[in-house]
Amino acid sequence: MLSKIQAIRGMNDILPEQTPKWQYLEDTVRRVLQSYGYSEIRMPIVEQTELFKRSIGEVTDIVEKEMYTFEDRNGDSLTLRPEGTACCVRAAEQHGLLFNQTQKLWYCGPMFRHERPQKGRYRQFNQIGVECFGMQGPDIDAEMIIMTARFWKALGLLENVTLQINSLGTSEARAEYKKALVEYLSNNLDALDEDSKRRLESNPLRILDSKNESTQRVLDDAPDFADYLDQESKEHFEQLLGLLDASDVAYEVNSRLVRGLDYYSKTVFEWVTDDLGAQGTVCAGGRYDGLVEQLGGRSTPGVGFAMGVERLILMLESLDKIPATINNAADVFIVAVGEGTQIEAFKLAEVLRNEFLTLRVVTHCGGGSFKSQMKKADKSGAPVALIIGENEIQNKTVVVKPLRGLSMTEESAENNRQQVEVPVSDFLNVIEGYLA
Ligand code: ATP
Ligand code: MG
Repeated sequence: MLSKIQAIRGMNDILPEQTPKWQYLEDTVRRVLQSYGYSEIRMPIVEQTELFKRSIGEVTDIVEKEMYTFEDRNGDSLTLRPEGTACCVRAAEQHGLLFNQTQKLWYCGPMFRHERPQKGRYRQFNQIGVECFGMQGPDIDAEMIIMTARFWKALGLLENVTLQINSLGTSEARAEYKKALVEYLSNNLDALDEDSKRRLESNPLRILDSKNESTQRVLDDAPDFADYLDQESKEHFEQLLGLLDASDVAYEVNSRLVRGLDYYSKTVFEWVTDDLGAQGTVCAGGRYDGLVEQLGGRSTPGVGFAMGVERLILMLESLDKIPATINNAADVFIVAVGEGTQIEAFKLAEVLRNEFLTLRVVTHCGGGSFKSQMKKADKSGAPVALIIGENEIQNKTVVVKPLRGLSMTEESAENNRQQVEVPVSDFLNVIEGYLA
């Protein structure tokens, strides 16, 4: 026998039993995005490698070791997108969406990073991303964060996430701080972990992010970023916090929050949870006022965030927050046994679909005995079956049969336990009673 081909490690199939949860999450988020006036944009999943090197930064985990980069047949270096912000800036700039305009955009789709696969961390994962262009004040930062809080409320997750927020200031302020931090850490070199030692030269701010205990202890007495913040960034940050206070969005200021990409300035934030173990960040973003220019466009302020769809699904599952109605169950299952019954079944199904646009009607295909078809009807989860046999065709009737799992009042339960044979001309009225 030939060996079977398997999916690539860290890249998951989302099976039919799972997809209703994904649709639920995506629909909920999409509805909220629309209510804030965002428009969807769709970008390719492959871009020139240079795009990510220039935006994310050469000395970042993503660019140093996580990108799926390959040569195409022309010898061009291409990369499967590890994130969406750079792609969105590239697309918006290329199509003239940025100059003298404001934009509120969102996208959804797979991202690729060669990381060690584990719970909540995959090599192909999905993000819903949001980017705003052309607005420099703290109001849009605030509105964006308020919107994320509404996502969690709509999904029933608000109690289980906390907002961490910080300001990274201007690049000048960051440079000043970097100097002080490097000086301090150099004096405590022995206590740093190997990764942090390496980063001391290449990307010292990332050391603030270290999970290593010894490094953490050193950091406890490190210079505080807040003391280095420039006046403009300070005001921006204070106004933002004021808007969040006034909107009852709780937050924790975390002056060690730096984020793993080079392009952030001023606001950065993360929504974190204790419910997912080590992979606790479900949503992260910030302001990137320098990025458009860095990618060759005219200077344009930007701010955005991305959320990890897999992590949110894991959270919904572990907290049991997926509504019971979210499944693939049919609403009506049509059983057809005997000569000439299949076409009648199709006709009834179409009548139902015409009448009830969102009704899930499954017509049995593939023949089989009454008993085997009824088994499938049960398995479909439908609360009611329509049965058509040769007798029914002759009588111009159809049998309406309640199935187990039907929720009803005591009284109607009594009435409904029995199947009824109704004239085809009247079956819509009868079936409506079962679909309440
Ligand atoms: P982490 O610190 O967990 O590696 P990150 O800072 O690299 O996250 P971002 O680039 O900010 O992540 O991406 C935004 C969100 O996308 C994350 O908060 C997370 O929810 C999700 N995410 C990032 N990498 C992965 C991955 N490999 N698998 C699944 N989800 C991911
Ligand atoms: Mg990462």
